[in-house]
Amino acid sequence: MAKCNVCGNKLAELFLGKLKGTVVKKEGSNKQYNVCFECQKKLGSKEEILKKIK
Ligand SMILES: [Zn+2]
Repeated sequence: MAKCNVCGNKLAELFLGKLKGTVVKKEGSNKQYNVCFECQKKLGSKEEILKKIK
């Protein structure tokens, strides 16, 4: 199961197989990071989320 790359919590899967949360991409990288809804709400912007992901 996918994990949030910020807090490490497991992402809850919805019935349509869609993750509850978002996926962010780093500039100049094809790597995708999962971010849970809670962290998305807490951090607000993609920039802030990326700062938290090393
Ligand atoms: Zn999280």
